[in-house]
Amino acid sequence: MADAPIIDIARLPHPAPVPGATRQQAIADPGFGKVFTDHMLTIEWSEDRGWHDAQLGPRQPIPLDPAASVLHYAQEIFEGLKAYRLADGSMALFRPDRNARRFNESARRLAMPELPEAAFVEACRALALADRDWFPPVDGGSLYLRPFMFATEAFLGVRPAKQYKFVVIASPAGNYFKSGAPAVSIWVAADHTRAAPGGTGAAKCGGNYAASLVPQADAIARGHDQVVFLDAAERRWIEELGGMNLFFVFADGTLITPPLTGTILPGITRDSLLLLAREEGLTIREERYAIDQWRDDAESGRLVETFACGTAAVVTPVGRVAGEDGAFTIGSGGPGQTTQRLRERLVAIQRGAAPDPHGWVMRLD
Ligand SMILES: *Cc1c(COP(=O)(O)O)cnc(C)c1O
Repeated sequence: MADAPIIDIARLPHPAPVPGATRQQAIADPGFGKVFTDHMLTIEWSEDRGWHDAQLGPRQPIPLDPAASVLHYAQEIFEGLKAYRLADGSMALFRPDRNARRFNESARRLAMPELPEAAFVEACRALALADRDWFPPVDGGSLYLRPFMFATEAFLGVRPAKQYKFVVIASPAGNYFKSGAPAVSIWVAADHTRAAPGGTGAAKCGGNYAASLVPQADAIARGHDQVVFLDAAERRWIEELGGMNLFFVFADGTLITPPLTGTILPGITRDSLLLLAREEGLTIREERYAIDQWRDDAESGRLVETFACGTAAVVTPVGRVAGEDGAFTIGSGGPGQTTQRLRERLVAIQRGAAPDPHGWVMRLD
């Protein structure tokens, strides 16, 4: 295998970027994941050449052999991070080194090649800068970056592929929730689990999401916003939502979040909030928390808040929980104080409105 290359990005001219007026219209109220920028970045990998051919060029369809192994055996991983506009007008990424590291952890689990962390970060930086005009001019807006990698080798035998493509695309994103973060209602999945011990629950791979769509649709059909998954072995311990980690806030100032035992995605928002909460003097316990206990504690008032967290929505209060055997309300059913305070502290750091003592913010320009 070739040595890890210093990333050398070829810049291809764009024959027809979206006209300025059309772009302005598209980013005025972009929502989430619907609008895409002019460019994409690609890097190829093959067994004999390693990583090669890094290109920043026009965003366009990707030709794929019908036998490409991703289409049959789902060798695909991804990341999600945001470029923010800082208070002083410059652009920044939030802890992109952590996304780079997690990407490689996912790659190892899916038997895919690792991308040097510096190349991952540089790829994100290069695309964000190339598409800087796509930054939405809305309060709370960001440029959401989606790096991903998949197996392109045309081969139907079952083994790790010998050819992959790494891609980064960008999507202008509005404020996930238009006016602050309303509390969501969640449904407890009784018939489905997301991840089993020894499985791929800690990897950010598309397959995990494919498996979560039926229970998520189930939750929506029953009038809820999100699904919460329980552990696969005992169907008792709370794990996480389809794409967000969970925190439980107690009246005595304790915070519980499920531990990273391999069935939960190690969120970077989760990690950041743990540190901020510790700095605030809250008692943190990374330990298992049972669904029955959740209901009892919410009803007795011992538990006062619950929130979910992830890059897309940052922090989302959970107001109500329902399952096959009834429903319960958490606190007032609305956003709680600790939830709001932690959210504000994190957002202030991300936007350069508060000091960044941990070096989480990487300026792009
Ligand atoms: C991405 C993801 C999260 C949140 O991770 P962040 O790094 O905070 O964005 C949580 N759970 C799942 C299943 C995820 O895929």
